[in-house]
Amino acid sequence: MEETKNIALVAHDNCKKDLTEWVNWNWNLLLNHKLICTGTTGKLVEKALMKKLGKENVLQYKVIKLKSGPFGGDQQLGAMIVDGQVDILIFFWDPMQPHPHDVDVKALLRISVLYNIPTACNRSTADFLISSQLMSENYEAVKRDFSYYLNRKV
Ligand code: PGA
Repeated sequence: MEETKNIALVAHDNCKKDLTEWVNWNWNLLLNHKLICTGTTGKLVEKALMKKLGKENVLQYKVIKLKSGPFGGDQQLGAMIVDGQVDILIFFWDPMQPHPHDVDVKALLRISVLYNIPTACNRSTADFLISSQLMSENYEAVKRDFSYYLNRKV
């Protein structure tokens, strides 16, 4: 991944306040990167950035907003990880409530591990991630060799 990272941001409803606060705290670091969000999270992230930067600048900066999570946003993000379009996942999922799209949540987390994407599921991990020196450097993630599986005899 390059110096400018593609950062995916997702928060379940009970965690949206947490994510908004985190964005308010880290907005100047986040602006060095590209942000991709599920629908409702994206609206809140945009709103938080607008307060810091003004409407015009945020519209130019362009937060990418996918579908809302329960309507396929998590799956869209998963597909983007597979296609190499997401470098980092910040996903504040709610440990206290089941969701209609729990299978999508599980799929997104699985694919982020499979593709070795740095993933933060709570604020302190997100803090450590965003303040990493690697955020402003090129980074070549180690890729596991799955040829044994892909070339298996079936
Ligand atoms: P939302 O989706 O940002 O559209 O609320 C998040 C999720 O539920 O995965």
